[in-house]
Formats: sequence, structure tokens, C-alpha cells
Amino acid sequence: MRIFTGMKLISADYIYPITSSPIKNGVVGIDDSGKILALLNPEKDDIDWEKVEQYEGIICPGFINTHCHLELSYLKGVINEKTLLTGFIKDIVAVRENFSETERIKAIEEADKEMFTNGIVAVGDISNGNSTFKLKEKSNIHYHTFIEVFGTNTDIAQQAIDNALQLRDEHPNNSVSIVPHAPYSMSPTLVKKLAKLKEETICIHNQETESENEMFEKGEGDLLKIMQNFAPEMHNYQAFNKSSLQSYLPNYFDSKKILLVHNTFTKQYDITFANKSPNDIFWCFCPNANLYIENKLPNYNLFLNEKCTIGTDSLASNWSLSVLDELKVIHKNNSTIGLEKLLKWATLNGAEFLGFDDELGSLEIGKSPGLNLISNVEKNQLTNKSTVKRIDL
Ligand SMILES: [Zn+2]
Repeated sequence: MRIFTGMKLISADYIYPITSSPIKNGVVGIDDSGKILALLNPEKDDIDWEKVEQYEGIICPGFINTHCHLELSYLKGVINEKTLLTGFIKDIVAVRENFSETERIKAIEEADKEMFTNGIVAVGDISNGNSTFKLKEKSNIHYHTFIEVFGTNTDIAQQAIDNALQLRDEHPNNSVSIVPHAPYSMSPTLVKKLAKLKEETICIHNQETESENEMFEKGEGDLLKIMQNFAPEMHNYQAFNKSSLQSYLPNYFDSKKILLVHNTFTKQYDITFANKSPNDIFWCFCPNANLYIENKLPNYNLFLNEKCTIGTDSLASNWSLSVLDELKVIHKNNSTIGLEKLLKWATLNGAEFLGFDDELGSLEIGKSPGLNLISNVEKNQLTNKSTVKRIDL
């Protein structure tokens, strides 16, 4: 029998390493720092069960939340539900000045704690200002910050880039990139200036509402109308006669990795187009935010062979910041997607996109990915009652 000294041994009904098949009654050996030293399979390895902490349920790596806007946490419960993206934008503009700096900071700290408790170990977080930077410096969660630029007025394009560059200088570390907000909110000049930065890792809100495609294809629809209310220059908008994705993606061909967020109205031909691009494409789903804003979910069947990730979006458009809650919605909507695949979306794919996969995203020897215990799983499927708990290491 092999003797494993100096490490904690942890087991559950199933261990999901993600990079290999689930192990029935598998055992993870972990040192004081949380680094994995052993991954044991009772069918092949002798295990001294008296030394093993055993749990009911399944164990998987810590979750990766690839899309959040921590700085909007103060808007929890404030924005009306199911008013479509156009209503959501109107609501945000109407209420965002009603909160003090202290209220905003408190909400950011609580949201970070909520994610930690829900087993999230890394976050791709959108920032328009610096209000989250102090927290990111001290948080137990790994953050990659996406500094977002937008503006349909050509005259302010350089200002938007300069502001973003200054924010990047203020950011506490170099896990940060400058990214476009959405296809519909950028002037062509701003897109060109941004593309020149050749950011390696970017994200963009993609095809979140039906009228985004109408705007690009035909130069009409509610999204264009609301943009014209805010920005008179949008009256001169020229349609592209192509879907949103096919119109804008070539601008970003110099970026290595692109995360497309939402994809609620993405069609098969968009996916085929994206897969022919030189970029490494990741598709991020935020199902609760889709239900909150549009009450419509993406067609997940189109994405079964793609690299998908999970995002919670912000508390402005969600009831919680929990990757498991997002997985439960996808499972309820499409029970043919197995737990193994869902967990890969929730862990390894996101870690790879954010560049944290050396440490996080899978249970492999040498990594320190955190351990999540998911309870109330039936026949290796999530249920409404499934819960997640971080295992203290
Ligand atoms: Zn978002």
C-alpha cells in the first residue's frame, strides 16, 4: 500500500477531474496550500479509508465566472425584469446616479463574498471605472478585468481610448485588457483605434437581443431607435446587410482569444463564420440574465461542440452570483447536456479563456483549483435542489 503522508485526503460519491472521466468514490490528495498531490481511483489504488474525509455528492474544481460587472452590484433588485435589452438600458440610465459611493463599494464587497461562498475561484469582470480595483487587490478570488470602451460619437473615440489606457495603468496587476462593450455601441473610428491595441484577450456582448441583428442587417428595429434617442449621430447609421457577429468580428481578428457573451440570437451560420476566424472563440452563457432581461434563452444545442463558458452577468440583471444557479437553468432548459460537459463549461473552459488554467479549472496534480462539493445530485444530474459548498482546505 502507498502511504500518503502530509496531505489531506478527500472523497465523494463521484470526483469530476474535468480533464479525465469522473471517478466513482475517487480521492483527491491535497496539501496545506490547496495544491493537488494525488488523484486516486479505488479501482486501481489501495486506499486507507480511515484517513479519508468522505462527502455525499460530487466534487469538482472551483468555478470560473467569465462574465460579471462587479461595479453594478449596487443595482441588485432595482432594475425591472423582462423589459428587453432596450428597457434594461433605459432603466440603468434612469437610476444609476441615485446611489452613493459608500453604497456602491459595500455592494461590490458583498458581491465578491457571495461569489467566494458559491465556489467561484476566478472571474472575468467588466469595469468602466476603478471602483472595484481596491477589492480586486485583496480578494481571495482571481480577477481578470476587462476595461470596456463604448461611444457612437466619432469625436469622443480618442478620449474613450485614453480613459481606458489610464484605467489600465491604475489597475493593480496586469491581468487586464481593454475591450469593446457591444457591436452596436461603438463608432467605426473607436473600433479601429481599439483594434490597433491588439489586445490578446477580449470579450464583447454578442447578439443579446433580436433587434441587434435587425440593426446590422436592415438598419431598423428597437435597438437602433433607442440608440438614436441617446445619440443623434445614429440617424446616419449604415446597415451591413449581415448579422451583427458577421459584421463586427473581422475587426478583432488580431486578438488571440475572444469571449462572445450571451449569444441568445446567434444562428448556426454565425457559429460557422466565427469558427473560420483566426481567433480562439469562446461562447459565454449567462442564462439567468437572459431570463431577467429578455425572458429568452440561447439555443444551447447549437453550441454542443463549441468551447462554452458560464457567466453570472451582474446583480443588475440577476438574482444571485452563482455559477451553479446558471448551470441549473441550462439543465432545466436542455436536460440532454450531461453534467460532465456542463462542469467543463463552468470550470476548465473559463480558466483557459482567462489564462488561469495553469492553476485552476481541473483536478490535476500540481494545480490549486479549489474543491467544490455539489450536493443533491440525482443519477449524476443536477436537480432544483442541488447546492454548492466550497470545501475548506
Ligand atoms: Zn454584461
